[in-house]
Amino acid sequence: MQGKCMCGAVTVTATPTRKSLSACHCDMCRAWTSGAFIAMECAPGNASADGPVKVLETSDWARRAACAHCGSPLWYELKVGPVAGQRQVAAGLFPDLGDMRLGLELYIDKKPHGYAFAGADQRKQMTEADMIAMFAPKDGEDR
Ligand SMILES: [Zn+2]
Ligand SMILES: [Zn+2]
Repeated sequence: MQGKCMCGAVTVTATPTRKSLSACHCDMCRAWTSGAFIAMECAPGNASADGPVKVLETSDWARRAACAHCGSPLWYELKVGPVAGQRQVAAGLFPDLGDMRLGLELYIDKKPHGYAFAGADQRKQMTEADMIAMFAPKDGEDR
């Protein structure tokens, strides 16, 4: 699939892992996008950009990329763990998402109460506690 940032300086080519989208409501994604960060998962090496990309080191475990010219969010990339290099590519870059549906919501407990995506009972929703339980190192494991 091919998409472009708002100003057109960056072209993104992506091969999503599956035909569904995720939405993240965490504080950082809300500040970054002014809403939920809606994205498609791409395995390491399956998403690339052509054009001026600014990489933002936003936490110990992930970085975000944006167009260096217009600031459009491009992707969220894990930098540690078994899927390091996996990118969640911004769905809004792609003019045609075909029949891709929203299949997962993250940090649902961080979503403001005043809005919601329809059809919540048809997808998985994870809270901050669910995310920490899934990704935090177990006792005795090296960080
Ligand atoms: Zn741009
Ligand atoms: Zn997020």
